Amino acid sequence: MSRTMDIAGAHETWVVPNYAPALALVKGKGARVWDAEGNEYLDFLAGIAVVSLGHAHPAWVKAIKTQAETLAMVSNLHFNELQPKLARRLASRFVEGAKVFFCNSGAEANEALIKVARSWGSCVGRHEIITMRNSFHGRTLATLTATGQDKVKKGFAPLPEGFVHADFNDIQSVRDAVTDKTVAVMVEVIQAEGGVVSADKSFLQELRALCDEKDLLLLVDDVQCGVGRLGTWFGFQSFDVTPDAFSLAKGLGGGFPIGAMVAGPKLCNVFQPGSHGTTFGGNPLACAAALAVIDTIEHDHLLDQVRSVGARFGGHLRGIAAEFDWIKAVRGTGLIWGVEIEGPVKRLEALMFAQGLIGVATAGKVMRFVPPLIVTAQDVDAAAEKFRAACRIFHEETKGATT
Ligand SMILES: *Cc1c(COP(=O)(O)O)cnc(C)c1O
Repeated sequence: MSRTMDIAGAHETWVVPNYAPALALVKGKGARVWDAEGNEYLDFLAGIAVVSLGHAHPAWVKAIKTQAETLAMVSNLHFNELQPKLARRLASRFVEGAKVFFCNSGAEANEALIKVARSWGSCVGRHEIITMRNSFHGRTLATLTATGQDKVKKGFAPLPEGFVHADFNDIQSVRDAVTDKTVAVMVEVIQAEGGVVSADKSFLQELRALCDEKDLLLLVDDVQCGVGRLGTWFGFQSFDVTPDAFSLAKGLGGGFPIGAMVAGPKLCNVFQPGSHGTTFGGNPLACAAALAVIDTIEHDHLLDQVRSVGARFGGHLRGIAAEFDWIKAVRGTGLIWGVEIEGPVKRLEALMFAQGLIGVATAGKVMRFVPPLIVTAQDVDAAAEKFRAACRIFHEETKGATT
């Protein structure tokens, strides 16, 4: 039996079947990973926009190793010097007076946003949060309720109250959803799971104005686009808009689980001792990993690199789109790209694997690419060639299927 079949068999026996894993990956270095059969892949998934420095980055490995040998965990009943150090690196890139709450995942970071908004609104009897259709905010009960897609809600009723949906990029729709119970609007600047659909800059700026006008909080879910992915530290900074608070997770720890809520002056002292918490939040090991990510982005000028290499990759994708009439759109910026197709996108994903390229089929019709922030011009050139080769085979197959 192959090692891959071994792994898949054990998985099926022992792991709850809520995922449908494809490859058995056993090793990674930089933007490359290897499966259990020794096949090499360019990893343009990066653990879903998580492995920001690529696999086994020396600075990240060293930080974790050193911290594990020194002090991994203390709980929040005691200080640890890395937590405020990391908080400062995040908050100082936001607004004057901002503070940070640490947790362990994107859903938890969004839970913190939701709870801080409700707590802020409780004094004036307002609790409703407006979120966008086609959004994705996580899998906990509150965040799946906030998510603007029915498929994540099925079977989990009763859902918590207090969430209403409006149309993304339609300011009138948001305005119409505001009631005397509304406390906040929560939005992704790019709907990533939703198929890499970007907000219009004008929409976000009108949202900010609407929130100011009605005394509502503007909350940004920056879990996927935060920490450099768009070529700015935070995703919303690419849109010249400032929320009252935002969430981070995926790329923050470079592969070590950590999430954060960063709150501006209006919200940064709403939580008081006892009002919110999590055992693992902001532990020294996770903070060390995140500090290594931030240091490396800074020292290696990765934000500039993300912008230039990302634009180059986008150019390649547009070139490929021009070759095939079933490619309907190419969307993205920085190092998040989506190629919308007509046809079985899961099949295209499998053909890419065979070419040695990992991406992810998203929203039923979009091939999404979220490579590590360290990818080079050569990496994106190579990835584009592999994608083109997969597209050629896909083209032959689907042509065959229709004639
Ligand atoms: C992934 C994601 C989440 C959920 O994060 P988890 O770590 O899986 O809980 C929330 N919002 C956005 C925008 C995401 O991309």
